Amino acid sequence: MSVKVDPNLMKDLETFGLRDAKKCFHCGNCTAICPLSTEENPFPRKLVKYAQMGLKDRILKSPEPWLCYYCGDCSDRCPRGADPGETMMAMRRYLTSQYDWTGFSRKFYTSETFEIVAVAIVGILVGLALWMFHGSNPNMEHAHLNSVWPAPAIEIADLIMAAVLSFLLLSNTWRCVKFTMGTLLKRIPVRIYIRQGWELITHFLTQKQFGECTDKMQWVVHLLIMTGYSTAFLLVAVFLAGGIEVIGLAWEPIRFQRDVVYPIFHPMRLFGYYATFAILYGTTYAIIGRIKKSKAPYKNSHGTDWMFLILLQLTTLTGIFIHFTRLLDWPMTTYVLYVIHLMFAVPMLVLEVPFSKWAHLAFRPVVMYLTRVKEEYLKEQGGEAQETP
Ligand code: SF4
Ligand code: SF4
Repeated sequence: MSVKVDPNLMKDLETFGLRDAKKCFHCGNCTAICPLSTEENPFPRKLVKYAQMGLKDRILKSPEPWLCYYCGDCSDRCPRGADPGETMMAMRRYLTSQYDWTGFSRKFYTSETFEIVAVAIVGILVGLALWMFHGSNPNMEHAHLNSVWPAPAIEIADLIMAAVLSFLLLSNTWRCVKFTMGTLLKRIPVRIYIRQGWELITHFLTQKQFGECTDKMQWVVHLLIMTGYSTAFLLVAVFLAGGIEVIGLAWEPIRFQRDVVYPIFHPMRLFGYYATFAILYGTTYAIIGRIKKSKAPYKNSHGTDWMFLILLQLTTLTGIFIHFTRLLDWPMTTYVLYVIHLMFAVPMLVLEVPFSKWAHLAFRPVVMYLTRVKEEYLKEQGGEAQETP
């Protein structure tokens, strides 16, 4: 089988944040100490070697970058300071851009100016749209968002955005599946995909592999950010936009934007409080860690790491302020904060979900699941089945 070599791969990976991989002299320490490396899928040394040799196709097929949670153990123990954990991180950014068929992700990852300008443009457009299309008779006595922006119009915009984002994320995830599985995708019987389906759910919800790493705090922080973010996303995109709830004896549609303040123990409010706590705690911990460079995973921050944390934290903080100004019934302050809140929230969703850091929430569990599928299939075949080139 011929192997294609890309002489510019190392340079290309450097634009995604790869730094010291050239220093590696292949002692194998990192793979030996990585708690998640296995006999079937050994890493990170193998991936460092692929980068040095320009083996782009091998990297595209490799599940390993997604099996790494960046605990940093390998970087701490590398005798050459080659930072293999950061190499795995840079590869995840690179792979995200390779899965993205629009080419937008590559630009987003490789140019901080592009990233900042894109976020600013989307934020300003959202602000302008809310300013231009507000209702003619806003309620200035009570905080009543629906009097300024009619809920059905906001809901339609929300559903259109959700549909576009889902399409982009799903189509990129499909490319991730095709790259990772190659010709095995069709050869593996459906029953194995179904039997391993549970792995997809548990990896997504618990990130149980991360719990096997030495630094349990990193796992907790990652889990808090992920569950907080997913809870907020579900509340906004699913329950508030398309569900129904019982108010008194009647079924009422639940809308993205509503003026009812739920009672303190209402599930919506409790879930909202959990999401707020989880995101604030997780993002503050990560931001302080990155400022202090306190651990290996926080030593080399890429522009997209900062952008994700900052947008997430600003969205959450403005959401908290709105919650209080509504309780205090301050109309003008609530309306202004609502515009600012959406100017942070929408760019975060529109740009981060399909093209940047958030996308790993889909790619990682999917690749972990596919790895289990592959392993079960190969076991059934007595370890002899190979992917055809
Ligand atoms: S520990 Fe460092 S030098 Fe040794 S194989 Fe890993 S990256 Fe290379
Ligand atoms: S960062 Fe942690 S999980 Fe990733 S390769 Fe290194 S030791 Fe393994």
